[in-house]
Amino acid sequence: MCPRCSICDLKFQREEGYFLGAMYISFGLALATIALIAALLWAITGWWITKDVTWAVVLFVPLAPTISLFARVLWIYLDQAFDPEPPERGNISAGSD
Ligand SMILES: [Zn+2]
Repeated sequence: MCPRCSICDLKFQREEGYFLGAMYISFGLALATIALIAALLWAITGWWITKDVTWAVVLFVPLAPTISLFARVLWIYLDQAFDPEPPERGNISAGSD
């Protein structure tokens, strides 16, 4: 992961432990994805719920890195919505005319 955005120069990790909040989002996304896969497996195969959930977890594992990255992006958007990082001096001269 790059330390800064190549377009707007936003610093991604603002402080130590910044992405702890992203873990909560990632956990929620993982649970929702596993539940969705399990429901699909149940609808298609009609297996017992234990077997559905076990296979849903197995099928979820390859998706974990993508979901983790997506959770970080959502966390940055959420954080910027509530506590936007001001543009650094000399970088973007917004409204200085
Ligand atoms: Zn950017």
